[in-house]
Amino acid sequence: MNILIFGANGGGKGTQGAIAKQKYNLAHVESGAIFRENIKGGTELGAKAKGFIDKGELVPDEITIPMILDRLKQDDCKGGWLLDGFPRNKNQAIKLDEALKAEGMPLDVVIDLILDRQTAKNRIMGRRLCANDNNHPNNIYIDAIKPNGDKCRVCGGDLSARADDQDEAAIDKRHAIYYDTETGTMSAVNYFKNLAKESGGKLKIIELDGKPGIKEVSEELMSKL
Ligand code: AMP
Repeated sequence: MNILIFGANGGGKGTQGAIAKQKYNLAHVESGAIFRENIKGGTELGAKAKGFIDKGELVPDEITIPMILDRLKQDDCKGGWLLDGFPRNKNQAIKLDEALKAEGMPLDVVIDLILDRQTAKNRIMGRRLCANDNNHPNNIYIDAIKPNGDKCRVCGGDLSARADDQDEAAIDKRHAIYYDTETGTMSAVNYFKNLAKESGGKLKIIELDGKPGIKEVSEELMSKL
């Protein structure tokens, strides 16, 4: 099972993605996380990406596209993958589609987690990352997933906030890219929705309303997956 998940930053994409990942035991390929690991590890890729990430801009396609396409060919992806954070623009969508076809890798499901821009912004600023597992949901502004003091509500791990989550100008930039239907991420969403229409049912689209609580959204996802 190969799944693509779309959702605005702050929309609960990580949380819902983890559910799909567990259900089908998928490799989680998350572009933002790969960049952050590289920055932490002091790699050349990390050094190249950091300036763009700090400003809330996309890392250039010449860096991002090969990084993700190579990752999808690794062994742990053979049993299926959940692709998260990529594609972020129309060019990435086209290149992904072409690469999947060239590799004979089917895309089975596209999840579109729909949330308005203002709600996504409020949620993003409250988000906290667990040192043990960045899919442990913690958000100081959402009652259902409030951390335990300053510790992770799932495992008690240390929490931190991503610098780019606390910078309003950077969030606005990221959302401007996401909600752009011409060349931004919404154009990539629409690209795959069109492919689904033409696929005669082979590619399934799951549209989820991200506004209700995590539990409700998860239940809807489970029933549709
Ligand atoms: P995320 O964790 O998905 O919010 O990603 C954090 C940052 O990594 C983004 O704001 C971008 O700077 C960069 N990034 C992640 N995915 C992509 C992508 N597909 N294309 C370009 N830049 C990306």
